[in-house]
Amino acid sequence: QPHGRVFNFSAGPAILPVDVLERAQADLVNWQGSGMSIMEMSHRGKEFESVIQKAEADLRALLNIPANYKVLFLQGGASTQFSMIPLNLAKAGDTVDYVVTGAWSKKAMEEAKKYCNVNVAAKGDNKSVPDPATWKLSADSRYVHYCDNETIGGVEFKSTPDVGGRILISDMSSNFISKPVDVSKYGVIYAGAQKNVGPAGVTIVIIREDLVGHVRPEAPTMLDYKIHVENDSMYNTPPCWSIYICGLVFEKLLKAGGLEAQLELNEKKAAILYDAIASSNGFYNSPVDPAVRSLMNVPFTIPSQPDLEKAFIKEAEKAGMLQLKGHRSVGGMRASIYNAMPIEGVQQLATFMKEFAAKHAK
Ligand code: PLP
Repeated sequence: QPHGRVFNFSAGPAILPVDVLERAQADLVNWQGSGMSIMEMSHRGKEFESVIQKAEADLRALLNIPANYKVLFLQGGASTQFSMIPLNLAKAGDTVDYVVTGAWSKKAMEEAKKYCNVNVAAKGDNKSVPDPATWKLSADSRYVHYCDNETIGGVEFKSTPDVGGRILISDMSSNFISKPVDVSKYGVIYAGAQKNVGPAGVTIVIIREDLVGHVRPEAPTMLDYKIHVENDSMYNTPPCWSIYICGLVFEKLLKAGGLEAQLELNEKKAAILYDAIASSNGFYNSPVDPAVRSLMNVPFTIPSQPDLEKAFIKEAEKAGMLQLKGHRSVGGMRASIYNAMPIEGVQQLATFMKEFAAKHAK
């Protein structure tokens, strides 16, 4: 691989496209002849202003974001959104609906409990997602929150759930811009950047404008969407470098045919791995229902010989494929294959899986 790089299957922070890194490397010391690094520039100067404006415009083009939605570049990770959402969209005592399909939506739900009356409308089993038609939504809920892709379990919604006209909120941290999404069906979409977009340090929030301006008076100023909307994400010093890299990634995706093309590639990549699992005569197992298998995070195990999993991870590492260990809460292996993972990396892993199985199958 160029620059002696490995195939990194980390769930996050994840890899970035190598051409983006190369461009960033050149800009790191002297951004486009300005004599300064982006990291050193005033965020109020015209150079950085052009960077953040272009990043937003390109993201709007990629996701076809309607004009009545605001785009914010915030700090605090997706985890801070777990509290910003109830603080801005519900009053104490209001009811909000949460659908729990894995570890991340559970965390979001637990955080909301601090601020309002939480109804768990449906619960998944980490293998499937409960059919939206069976969700027990409250008649008077302020919003419905779900996680579009559970990074740990590898469970992904394949379409936008119908919540009967309620305000729908989605954590898309681990599948943001991996596929086209009809933003108009959502009240809020949020995503930490460090999986599919850019470096850690920036969280992207897309929010319908009528949902801005209702924060509880006691909430910290930094947790008020309105303050960030009014200040174009520059109420305080923004994570300039992270935003700049996100902009490069958006530009690259647009040039490469947008999210339809990206989805096609992601489907192809995921199919290579799921096929390797399916054709292993049971040597490997994917615990997830085929209907909702994630295109981004592919967990798998060696069910008949779990002792071999350590050796698998070690040998893969020796062959230049890193970070394949499953999340500590589930064990086994997990291959995260976000947008920036080249198809060659996935092919190499599938070949390795076949060879490993051939060596060890009983
Ligand atoms: N939501 C999902 C789906 C995630 O995968 C993660 C992190 O892995 C988070 C939220 C938390 O993100 P952050 O670390 O940016 O707070």
